[in-house]
Amino acid sequence: MMVLRGNQADQDAWPAAWSWDAVEPYYGVSGAGPFPQADARDLSPLTAAFVESALAEGLGHRDDLNDPNNQGVGFVPVSQRRGRRFSVADGYLRPVWRRPNLTVVTDVRVTRVVVEDGRATGVNYRLGDVEGLALAGREVIVSAGAIGSPWLLLGSGIGPADELRALGVGVTHDLPGVGKNLLDHLANGVVAATVPGVKTLTSAETLPNVLRWLVTGRGPLTSNVGEGAAFVRSRPDVAAPDLELVVAPVPFQDEGLIKPTREGVTLAAILLQPRSVGEVRLRSADPLDTPIVDPRYLSDSGGQDAEVLLAGVRLARRILAREPLAGKLAGEILPGEDAQDDDALLAHLGAKSQTLYHPVGTCRMGDDELAVVDPELRVRGLAGVRVVDASVMPALPRGHTNWPTVMVAERAADLIRSR
Ligand SMILES: Cc1cc2nc3c(=O)[nH]c(=O)nc-3n(C[C@H](O)[C@H](O)[C@H](O)COP(=O)(O)OP(=O)(O)OC[C@H]3O[C@@H](n4cnc5c(N)ncnc54)[C@H](O)[C@@H]3O)c2cc1C
Repeated sequence: MMVLRGNQADQDAWPAAWSWDAVEPYYGVSGAGPFPQADARDLSPLTAAFVESALAEGLGHRDDLNDPNNQGVGFVPVSQRRGRRFSVADGYLRPVWRRPNLTVVTDVRVTRVVVEDGRATGVNYRLGDVEGLALAGREVIVSAGAIGSPWLLLGSGIGPADELRALGVGVTHDLPGVGKNLLDHLANGVVAATVPGVKTLTSAETLPNVLRWLVTGRGPLTSNVGEGAAFVRSRPDVAAPDLELVVAPVPFQDEGLIKPTREGVTLAAILLQPRSVGEVRLRSADPLDTPIVDPRYLSDSGGQDAEVLLAGVRLARRILAREPLAGKLAGEILPGEDAQDDDALLAHLGAKSQTLYHPVGTCRMGDDELAVVDPELRVRGLAGVRVVDASVMPALPRGHTNWPTVMVAERAADLIRSR
């Protein structure tokens, strides 16, 4: 539910046709309508304390974290209506659900883009044990996400010819960049216990809170967890933010998959512009076999990614040590008081970092050899197929990826209609 589009400098890494001036109107279209951004309704007092402490640490205030220059600290806008998550399905699909020219089939696995004489003509899919074929009147639009789209293209024989042949996949179209350039936001940070009396999301699932949320759409259960954020430059010579801090009024550990047992707070540091690059590749020629997702986090040869993330963890500690937040805390849980020097913290980064679930770049747009789609999102060298999702982004936004994906989709709609 975090609506954070990034910084206008993000577009510098995209083809000229996707400059900030060119994409900004599409943020206007979505932000004003189908994909709303709202203020969070009931922020935790810990989040307000985080903003105060970050200001005390010298970070500037940012009223709107979606300003073209997003540097500074503030509250995170959310994709919600009346305290409930409002998804892109709510915004775009539900209003047109009954149109006679729209058919939505769920629980389907598309297994192949069908190509005849150099043109994509449809897709094969599986629904349970049933195989199906959907023909395209004009174009196939692949929107399976930064993992799913390269997976589908590779399984259709569209990708690096030598790698496909080595797995026994017939080559339909040699396109060396498919699945390469996997970029993702890596997060680590500080988890601290809170003093007795400070309520956090750990204890928010009470019957009164559930009723309050159901009846009024208010209370702590409206929380999107990552309630406050700061975008900062790790060094003065960096042109735009390369670090983000996100505060969550709960101990967030092991990707949030473990239910917290104690009250606490998390201040995560996120590497916004990683140099480490991974890839998505096929495991086998079986289209139903899951692909290999190899993010290669912290693998850059200069070790700069670890350095920046380390700076983020240290900044998080300094903010947590400032009032008013400091007075609400009762000791560090992670990385732990013992982890003070660089070696101990780097070992912690290697062991405990986690994804922010922002993969992009695996069907990158551009016009060079490794680009997968052209600036109009058409698969290069193949007629009748486009990719429209986060995979086409050449670089990670200095923000989160959902709204930028909506921007790509809004623009794609115009491109498809030749507007
Ligand atoms: C837990 C989590 C929390 C997140 N929180 C935020 C947040 O707060 N703010 C933010 O900005 N971003 C957030 N993100 C990231 C955001 O969700 C993604 O950037 C965004 O959804 C990308 O959109 P997409 O269309 O590229 O891919 P997706 O949303 O992944 O859509 C791809 C769809 O294709 C389907 N698919 C894939 N392969 C096939 C196939 N072969 N056949 C049929 N269907 C297929 C998938 O099931 C999926 O429904 C979060 C992600 C996760 C996982």
